[in-house]
Amino acid sequence: MKIKNSVSFNVDHSRLNRGVYLSKIDIMNDVYTITLDLRLRVPYKEKIISNKELHTFEHCFATAVRDITESIENVAVSYFGPMGCQTGYYIVFNTTESDENKYFDIFYNILKKACEYVKNMTEVPAKNELQCGNCYSLGDIDDAKNSAEELYKLVDEMDNQKAFHKYSFID
Ligand SMILES: [Zn+2]
Repeated sequence: MKIKNSVSFNVDHSRLNRGVYLSKIDIMNDVYTITLDLRLRVPYKEKIISNKELHTFEHCFATAVRDITESIENVAVSYFGPMGCQTGYYIVFNTTESDENKYFDIFYNILKKACEYVKNMTEVPAKNELQCGNCYSLGDIDDAKNSAEELYKLVDEMDNQKAFHKYSFID
C-alpha cells in the first residue's frame, strides 16, 4: 500500500465527506509524524461545529488520547486540536513505526478507544483559569460527547471498510 502524501490545500473540499483521512506523513530521522484529518462535517453542506463544542472536545479528546497512547510504546500524540474552518479536528502522532501498512490498525484502535473514553467521561478536564486560556468558552461534558459520537460513527465506517477514508484531490 502506498499512501499518498498531501497537504490540505490540495484536497478538493467540494468533494470532501465526513471521514478519518490520513492527511500527511512527515519523516525526520527515524521518527514518522502522522497527521490525521478527523472531518466531522461536510464543508459548505453541513453546519460547522460550534466554538463551544470544538473547545470542549479538544479538552476531552486530548486527555483521552494522551492517556491511551501512554501505554503504547512506539506511539505518542504530539497535538490534537480543532481546524480553523470548524469542520473537524487534526490529530498528530509521532511514531517509530515505519511500516505504513500498520498505521490503519494502530490509529483505528487509538481513535476507537479515545471515543469510548470520552463517552465515559463525567466532567471536562482542565476547565479552570490555571490550565486553560479561556475556560469560560468551554461547554459541559455533553458538548464533547456529541463530537465523540460523530467520530465514533466514522471509526465504525473505518472498521467496515478496513481503511482510512479517501480524499479527492484538486486536479
Ligand atoms: Zn481550553
